[in-house]
Amino acid sequence: MNILIFGPNGSGKGTQGALVKKKYDLDHIESGAIFRKHIGGGTDLGKQAKAFIDRGELVPDDITIPMVLDVLKSSGANGWLLDGFPRSIVQAQKLWDALVTGGVKLDFVIEILLPRLVAKNRIMGRRLCANDNNHPNNIFIDAIKPNGDKCRVCGGALSARADDQDEGAIDKRHDIYYDSTTGTLAASYFYKDLAAKGKCKYIILEGEGSIDSIKDTLLKQLD
Ligand code: AMP
Repeated sequence: MNILIFGPNGSGKGTQGALVKKKYDLDHIESGAIFRKHIGGGTDLGKQAKAFIDRGELVPDDITIPMVLDVLKSSGANGWLLDGFPRSIVQAQKLWDALVTGGVKLDFVIEILLPRLVAKNRIMGRRLCANDNNHPNNIFIDAIKPNGDKCRVCGGALSARADDQDEGAIDKRHDIYYDSTTGTLAASYFYKDLAAKGKCKYIILEGEGSIDSIKDTLLKQLD
């Protein structure tokens, strides 16, 4: 099964993606994570990409597109879940061309809807528990509000990630995501049009529900 997943930063895309990957034993291909690996390993590609990533800008297509298509080609037998690519209409078209040329079927495209302000608050409201990274705490989400200034699960001390508090960087990334002319929403609509022609299935999820309810809705449509 081959899947594309779209959703703004803060929409729970990573969480839902991880659940789908696990259930169907897919290769989870995340363009941002591939870049971070290159940067960590000090490769030429990593050096070229770093300045763009630090500024919250897209890495140029001549670096990004061949890198992602290359990883897709060598992915596992059960298929892949592609996250973070395509992020523009140009990338969407290039990916589709590569899939058609390679005879690779795209089964599902998932779009998680979340209003921009809600997405921003979710990111800025995230708090990390000193005892366990997996204890969810968010000062803007009622269901997982911290207990005062302590972790709601274990009472541990809480802190905020520096990049979650950088409003300028969050805005820049959301500018790219919510751009429905040439940006990421335009890329997702490119696939919505293909779905209307029967080339793949397009699943729309409301991102404001709980993790479990979104997961249940999603898995029902994939099965
Ligand atoms: P992410 O972890 O998905 O938020 O990606 C981190 C950064 O990697 C982005 O802010 C971009 O600078 C870069 N990046 C990831 N995916 C792409 C893409 N499809 N096209 C261009 N740049 C990308």
